[in-house]
Amino acid sequence: MKRSTRIYVAATGLVLSGAIVASSLALLVGTPISQLSLSTWQAISITALIVTASIVAFFCVRSLRELLRKYTDLKEANQKLHSTLEYQIDAAHTDLRTRLKRETEAKRVALEATQAKSKFLADMTHELRTPLNGIGGMAQVLQKSALSSEQMTYVDTILSTSKTLGTLINDILDFSKVEAGKIDIEDIEFALLETVETTIDELTHSANIAKNQLVVNIDPELPRQVLSDPTRIKQVLRNLLSNANKFCNNGVISIQLSKQIEDHDQWLCFTVHDTGIGIAENKLATIFEAFSQEEASTTRRFGGTGLGLAVCKQLVELMGGTITASSQINFGSQFEFRIPLRTNHASEIIRTRNGPLTHIKPLIIDHNEVRCKAIASLLSSWCFDFKAATSLNDINAIIAALSDNLTATIEDYTCVIVASEDFSETQKVVFDSVNAKVPVLELQPLFHEGIDDSTLCRYTLSIQSPIKPSYLMDRLATAHGVDAVGRDERTDGDQVKGYNFEEFRVLLVDDNEVNRMVATLLLEDVNLEVDVAENGQEAVDKVRANSYDLVYMDCEMPLLNGFEATRKIRALEDSMAAITPIIAMTANAMKGDRDRCIESGMNDYIAKPIDAEELYQLTEKWLNFNHAKVVNR
Ligand code: ADP
Repeated sequence: MKRSTRIYVAATGLVLSGAIVASSLALLVGTPISQLSLSTWQAISITALIVTASIVAFFCVRSLRELLRKYTDLKEANQKLHSTLEYQIDAAHTDLRTRLKRETEAKRVALEATQAKSKFLADMTHELRTPLNGIGGMAQVLQKSALSSEQMTYVDTILSTSKTLGTLINDILDFSKVEAGKIDIEDIEFALLETVETTIDELTHSANIAKNQLVVNIDPELPRQVLSDPTRIKQVLRNLLSNANKFCNNGVISIQLSKQIEDHDQWLCFTVHDTGIGIAENKLATIFEAFSQEEASTTRRFGGTGLGLAVCKQLVELMGGTITASSQINFGSQFEFRIPLRTNHASEIIRTRNGPLTHIKPLIIDHNEVRCKAIASLLSSWCFDFKAATSLNDINAIIAALSDNLTATIEDYTCVIVASEDFSETQKVVFDSVNAKVPVLELQPLFHEGIDDSTLCRYTLSIQSPIKPSYLMDRLATAHGVDAVGRDERTDGDQVKGYNFEEFRVLLVDDNEVNRMVATLLLEDVNLEVDVAENGQEAVDKVRANSYDLVYMDCEMPLLNGFEATRKIRALEDSMAAITPIIAMTANAMKGDRDRCIESGMNDYIAKPIDAEELYQLTEKWLNFNHAKVVNR
């Protein structure tokens, strides 16, 4: 029964009960009274009692009736309220449903727009990469031919400009990838020092041209192996370093790697400092926004798009870190980014590999204060005992001591690191005699590259700038006869290697004539026998009829695309013992493109524009693989 009905029944009961009680009292009391012979006083009292009871009963009934009326009003009001509320809730529901529908629709439209934008960018960059591949590739081929020095300069310019354009395309692509949530951040273990040093190596040439001194300072207490995304770290560092070099001339660019601890959190901190033109304070706040440049004239003077730092910020944040900038106009800028410092296990620290070198005692003689400090800082971070002289007075005093009493003075040290370019011939003779007792390591003039020890070094060994930790350790080890102690396993990416793939036959599949020409020239340059196919179907037919050591496969082609062609080739090979490695050679560089290639049965992937060195490295890898007749699918 409903609550309102229950109250109604109870009230009615009460009224009836009141009436019954009053009449019963009159009956109960009146009858015996009439039978009894009571005194007048008693009779009056009893009658008064009866009257009072009747009055009480009367008021009770009236109050109850009043209560009942109020209750009925309340009930009606309640019902009204109920229906109003129901109406309002219904209206709100309808409104919410409409809004939800509208928002879902807006979201769908926005998503479609983003996807359309990403697709447009992917298509556009694909289209740009293809001709760029032609320009860059032809320039690389031309570079190897007999050219006059003037022609060589022109070719170098074509190559460096096409590389800049390539970087720009990559930036645009990266930016759109991050926006569309299509960028994957790797989490792998990698060698920290080597990653940073190879990035610095890439900058050395342009730093020499801009006459910028590179100074590297890496905290040796940092772990040797860390967990993060080395490719993205290199990308950010490369961007900061090339900006520093772009906006600084005849200055110093320093790269520092350190550890920060904050509320029990450990951070790996990368700092790039330059002594260049600086950034105005009011521009600093927007420097990480897309397409923001310090001033409009920047584009005209220095080129660029203002996208680099925006991409850096997005990448650093995706790695769980932050990036900041500080600057003073005309005094230089400092960019710092940090990411969580994580290791797989108790990792060895960078310093650990000093090994037998712990007891060496070098003497540094260098007029260049910045370089002298950089060397000293590395030596002290390795806890070596050393002495450094950089002021003219100190240097003269040391040379005087060395010439007066050579043996006594020199016996204090195990080697001498000297920048002798500014010394007189007489002073150089002093170092000749020093070199007879302890190894002298000659600091090569700054901004000189590729100096061969055997032809130009006057003393035991030479040291070139920039002074990178593993390089210095390497040189010291060699000078002290401790070969390769402290040497880090390098990827040798900075060394040009002579490739020769004579006797191997490859198939190149590409529908674009210029691309075919570029790739053929590059491949023939390393003595490969190259056969070509202009589409997937021709490739399948050729693989059926001939035997190839390697196939380079374009993806988008008429008649039969690269994916389908690969599937058909793999189906052909099912009965065979070995497979032909297939490398995708494509201008598709979006996330998932590589996976698509591998899923279709290809073994590896190289993006256009093709870098000759990368192409040769992959070729070597897969020719070795095939040679060993290892089946791996
Ligand atoms: P880009 O260099 O391609 O223009 P970035 O996003 O890398 O794009 O840099 C944006 C702008 O920030 C630059 O155009 C320049 O004005 C300023 N900037 C960045 N790094 C430096 C630096 N080290 N010194 C001076 N200005 C800088």
